[in-house]
Amino acid sequence: MSSDPIEVLFKAIEERRAELVELVRALIRFPTVNPPGEAYRPCAQFIGDRLRTRGFDVDYVHAAGTPGDSERYPRINVIARREGAAPGPCVHFNSHIDVVQSGGGWTLDPFAADVKDGRVYGRGACDMKGGLAASIIAVEALIDCNAKLPGTLEVSGTVDEESGGYGGVHYLAQRGWFSPPRVDHVIIPEPLNVDRVCIGHRGVWWAEIETHGRMAHGSMPFLGDCAIRHMHAVVDRFERDLYPRLAARRTDMPVVPSGARHSTLNINSVHGGQAETPGYPAPTVPDSCRMVIDRRLLIEENMVDVKQEVRELLEQLVRDRPGFRYTLRDVFEVLPTMADRNGPAARSTAEAVRRVIGRSPEFICSPGTYDQKHIDRVGKLRDCIAYGPGILDLAHQPNEYVVIEDMVNAAKVMALSARSLLNRTA
Ligand SMILES: [Zn+2]
Repeated sequence: MSSDPIEVLFKAIEERRAELVELVRALIRFPTVNPPGEAYRPCAQFIGDRLRTRGFDVDYVHAAGTPGDSERYPRINVIARREGAAPGPCVHFNSHIDVVQSGGGWTLDPFAADVKDGRVYGRGACDMKGGLAASIIAVEALIDCNAKLPGTLEVSGTVDEESGGYGGVHYLAQRGWFSPPRVDHVIIPEPLNVDRVCIGHRGVWWAEIETHGRMAHGSMPFLGDCAIRHMHAVVDRFERDLYPRLAARRTDMPVVPSGARHSTLNINSVHGGQAETPGYPAPTVPDSCRMVIDRRLLIEENMVDVKQEVRELLEQLVRDRPGFRYTLRDVFEVLPTMADRNGPAARSTAEAVRRVIGRSPEFICSPGTYDQKHIDRVGKLRDCIAYGPGILDLAHQPNEYVVIEDMVNAAKVMALSARSLLNRTA
C-alpha cells in the first residue's frame, strides 16, 4: 500500500466512485428549473443535511425580495463551512443548483438521472450538478484522509445563476459571504472540460433601441413615418460601421471558441408594427419598432465607451436622417473579469490537472458570463477560477450528460488543488 498522501487521497476518491454517481443522480432528481426557481429549498436542504453529517456548519440564506423570489419559489442558498485543525486560508467551492428548462428534443426523462455507457444523463448533469457532486466528494475525501488538515473548507449551492445570480452569488457577495478574510480562494465547478482552467469571462451589455414613427393608414404611408424603416437604417449603420469595427478588435483574453476573442454584437430580436389577428394584417404605418441587442465586451474595453459607440451611431442618424428619433434603454450589464493565471487558485489547479490528467491544462476564458463576476466585482475577491468536469458544449442541450470518469478525475483535481491551497503559507 502506498504511503504517498496524494496517492492515498486519489484512492479514497476512486473508492467513492459509486457514491459520486448516486450523489449526482440524487441532485439531478431535484427539478431545480429556473425560471421559475423550482425545488430550490429541498435541493439546498439535501446538500446541507449531507455536509452537516460530515462536520460542516450549515447556513441557509434566503435572498428575500430578489427577482423571482416568492412564497411559492423562495430563493434559498446553502453554505457549508468546516474549520480545520489549524488556522489557514479558506477554500470555497461554489456551484449553482439551478438548471435551465429541459426544453424539447429529449429521448430520456430529463429528471430521471439515467446511467448509461459510463455517463449520467439529465438536465443539469453537465451544468453543473456533476461539478457540484465532484466537489462534495473531493472535500469529503480530503477531510477523511487528513486528520490535521489546516484552514477552512466551504461548499455552497447557490441559485439563479442562469438568470444573472441576483438571488444567489450576487446577494451573498453583497453580504460578505464571498469576501476576504472569510474566503481566500474560490473554485467554481462550471462545465469547462476536465483539462481546462477557466480564469474569467467576457462582459455583457443588453440594451433596447426603440425607433419612433407616426401612425397613418397603410394606403397613405406618406402621411405617416415608418418606425421599421428607421430601424432598418440602424441595422444598416451597424452593418457598415459597427460590425467591421467590432471584428477588428481582438482580446488577449484566451476566450474559447476563438471566434469570441473579438467584440461581438447579436441582434436578439426586433419587434415592430401593430399586432395582427391571423388573416387580418394591420394596414397601419408602424409608430414604434424595438430591437434588443446583446453586446459582449472584452477586458480591454470599458462599458462607458461601449455604450457611447452605439449612441454615437444613433446620434449620427438623428443628424443625417429626416424624422429619425430613438430611445436607448439599458437592460442588463456585466463587466468582464479575469483572474491572474499565476494566482494561487489557477496555479494549484493547473498543477493538479497535470498530475491527474497527465497533461498541461489550457487556460481559457468563457464567451458568456457566470457567477465569477459577482465574486470579483462585488465580493472583491480576485482569486477565483472555474474548473469542472462537464463538456461545455453539452450545457443547456437536450440529452445533457456528464461522463463519470470525468467527474472522478475532476474530484481528484479539486481535492488536490484544495489541499495545496490549504497548506499554502501566505
Ligand atoms: Zn452553469
